Amino acid sequence: MWRFVILLVGLTCASLPAAADSRFAGCDVEQSRIIDDAFGTAKDLTLKAAVAVGDTADYQRWFGDYSAANAEQVRASLKSIVVALRSGAVTAQCDLVTDEGCDGGNYAWVYAHEPYLMHLCPSFFNLPPLTALRPGDRRSDNGTREGTIVHEISHFRPVAQTEDHCYSRSECSQMAQRDARRAIENADSYQYFTEDVTYFARQPMADKPPPAPRANR
Ligand SMILES: [Zn+2]
Repeated sequence: MWRFVILLVGLTCASLPAAADSRFAGCDVEQSRIIDDAFGTAKDLTLKAAVAVGDTADYQRWFGDYSAANAEQVRASLKSIVVALRSGAVTAQCDLVTDEGCDGGNYAWVYAHEPYLMHLCPSFFNLPPLTALRPGDRRSDNGTREGTIVHEISHFRPVAQTEDHCYSRSECSQMAQRDARRAIENADSYQYFTEDVTYFARQPMADKPPPAPRANR
């Protein structure tokens, strides 16, 4: 009898598809690979963004008037995102479009008080990877996988405890010019800064394109 049960278990396991990553609940193998790639790239790009904090056009576009104190907070927040990703503590759950939080057209969402679980909605997987974009590529208007990860991790209380004061490139770049204080505590501002530092890294300053216009959403 026991031999039979063990054999049955063995057969059942053998017939299952390759195991998905245990850090990514509800995600299939392909989704797990995409998330793992995006976490790795997001970590590298956020570190580059932290190093790029300074009195630059990219900084002013997303965080408003430069001040040493504000820049220090921005740099610290970006570094906290890197530390969270580097620690391996960030996990993800693949939710259905009908699940709470994914029914409003969101790409991803988190509870700030539940680090480091990121809820990913099906549309997250349709976003382009940031490294595939070139300056001026309009697909960036709706965000990128890595930018979305930066946005969500910035919300966690042990990271940067950011808010959503605005959404979209046009609204957030306007808010930064009006209210730098709010910009440096705003999740989308960290996303766009990190994306722009990457897009425009190889562009001479004089050739930098203006911020992309807002896509309807
Ligand atoms: Zn948010």
